[in-house]
Order: sequence, then structure tokens, then C-alpha cells
Amino acid sequence: MRNALGLMLASVLAAVVIAAGGWFYYSSRADQGAPKTIAARAADQLPAQAKLAAKDDVSTTATVADKPTTLAQAPAPAPAMPVQQKQACANPNALGVSRVVEIDTTGGPGFGFETFKQFDFLTDKEVVLTFDDSPWPVNTPAVLKALGEECTKGLFFSVGKHAMWHPEILRQVLAQGHTVGTHTWSHLNLNSKKMTEQQAKDEIEKGFSAVKLALGTNPAPFFRFPQLQHNPAMVSYLGTRNVAMWSTDLDSFDFRKGATPEKIVETVMTKLDKLGKGIVLMHDFQKHTGEALPTLLARLKAGGYKIVQIKAKTTFQSLPEYDEAVLKDLKVPTASTTTRPISSVVQTVSQ
Ligand SMILES: [Zn+2]
Repeated sequence: MRNALGLMLASVLAAVVIAAGGWFYYSSRADQGAPKTIAARAADQLPAQAKLAAKDDVSTTATVADKPTTLAQAPAPAPAMPVQQKQACANPNALGVSRVVEIDTTGGPGFGFETFKQFDFLTDKEVVLTFDDSPWPVNTPAVLKALGEECTKGLFFSVGKHAMWHPEILRQVLAQGHTVGTHTWSHLNLNSKKMTEQQAKDEIEKGFSAVKLALGTNPAPFFRFPQLQHNPAMVSYLGTRNVAMWSTDLDSFDFRKGATPEKIVETVMTKLDKLGKGIVLMHDFQKHTGEALPTLLARLKAGGYKIVQIKAKTTFQSLPEYDEAVLKDLKVPTASTTTRPISSVVQTVSQ
């Protein structure tokens, strides 16, 4: 990684225990709702277990750590995050990745100044590219292509239902070395008055289990609330699950009606030039975002901005009951019926 040593020195962060309450404020903003029209595909879409390379030659130059809180129910330590092989970059003038930040998600730290104020881990001109509502046909591959051509990496927040519909696209996201977190099961507003705590919890857990099933491996313990609607009880809950929460520093407004690739580029560049750095919120779900990205990445490079890649120290540990609930939704046949010929299962005994 370029300038790794200098950036290392510049980016050592203080670890702070996040006290419950008072460490977030509510954000109300419009967001793109998930479509509800496409039926879930059959179980033959289920991925094989991903075989990830064991080698990691990506240097980690900084760690954002959150001191373990003394939780009543301290979860068991999670296994290390699987790592991907570093891919060679064919573009000598690529934007690339300037440094890789590893997040210790113990206790559920929050990032993104629109909501969370604790961890100011980016230095001047540093940018984190984040993409919500993954995966989606055409649009997600367009984003992946643009990122791939610039040999740079993003942080994706997948909607569980979308992951079930298009697991092959989500696996491409992971295979290309990007980080995959989650964004609920069905993109409901978890801060809605109509939603019970149990329903909100189900949305979170089922989303993680669905993404795990689609990927064939555990996702990163990273979560973004739909519409950035932070339900206080769920913020606490995610803390007990050791999941880091990602708000944003600046919104591309790529989901808004009338958004064009040009507008998206101008919105992001104008806000970045004002703030000097930031976590950028975009949606790979949106067609215009993929179209805007080649220009946006070129503008970032020309403007001297550097991309910071986000990784998690450990993986998310899903709960078996939610893994089962997701499988049930897919109506996966049981092993006993799949291995038996139909004549041994169904017989005409009377006509
Ligand atoms: Zn969303």
C-alpha cells in the first residue's frame, strides 16, 4: 500500500468505550425502499461454500479498536475474518487503495458523523466508499466494474432478501475483495413506531443469516440502518452482538428522484471538497450510481483523494434459529426427500 508507513503514524486512533445512551442522535432522511415485486428464487441458487484464499498480503495500517465493554453476556470470540487474495492491478494509474483499516467491532462502535461522533479515523483527503441495498442485477456489476478498473475497494451493505434473490452477484462482490456487511432482511425502517423490538431484531438477524447463506461464509459484523433510522434499542442490541454500525459523513443522494450521474458526481465532490474527507453513502442498487462511478473515481484521483478500505477483525456470528428461518423461507427440501426417488415418497394407492 502506498504511503503506508506515513499513514500508519497519522492514523493511530484512541480506543474509547462507548457508553450506552447519548452517543447517537437521530437522523431522518429519505432513502430508497427495497422493491417488493420479485419472488424469491428456488433453492438451486444456494451457493456452495466459498473457498477463500488463506493468504493475505494486504497490509493493515491502522486499527480502530473499541475496548471491550463489560457486557453481562459476553459473546464468545469470533473467528478471524476470511481474507481474499490480493488481485494484481492492470491499471498503472489506478486510484487504488491508500490504506486498509481493520475494525474491532467489540461492543458495537458507530461510524459516520451524520450519526456517530466518537471515531474520527479518516485523515485529510481520505474517503471510504460505501454502497447500500446490494446486490442488484446490472447495477451492482456496473459498480464492481468501475471499482475494479480503478483497483479500489468499497464497503457494501446487503439487504437479506436481495442477497437471496441474487446470491451470485453478492458472491462477486466478496470475490473482488470488497467488504460485505448487512442492511436488514427487508429494508424496513427499524425506528418505526409500528415495529416491535422483536420485529426489529428479527430484521437484523435474518438479514445477517441471509447474507451468510448467499455468500457461503460469514459476512463482516457491519450493519447500516435503513434510511439511517437508528432505533436506540437496536443500537444497544447490536452492541451486544459486537456489530459495528455505519452511518455516513456525506450522502450522494443517488436515490433521489431526478438523480443523474452528473448530479451524483457533483454532490459528492462538492461535499467532499467542503469536508476534506469522509464516508460516502451511495447505492449500488441505483442505476445512476454505477454510471457515475467511473467519473467520480477519476475526479477523486484528480482531486488528490485517497481511498481507505474497511475490513473487520472478525466475522459475524449468526444465530442458528435465524439461519434456519432463512432456509425455511427458501423452502429447501430436506436431505431425506432429495435423496429418495419420487416413487418411494409418493405412491398412488387408490384411483
Ligand atoms: Zn438502503
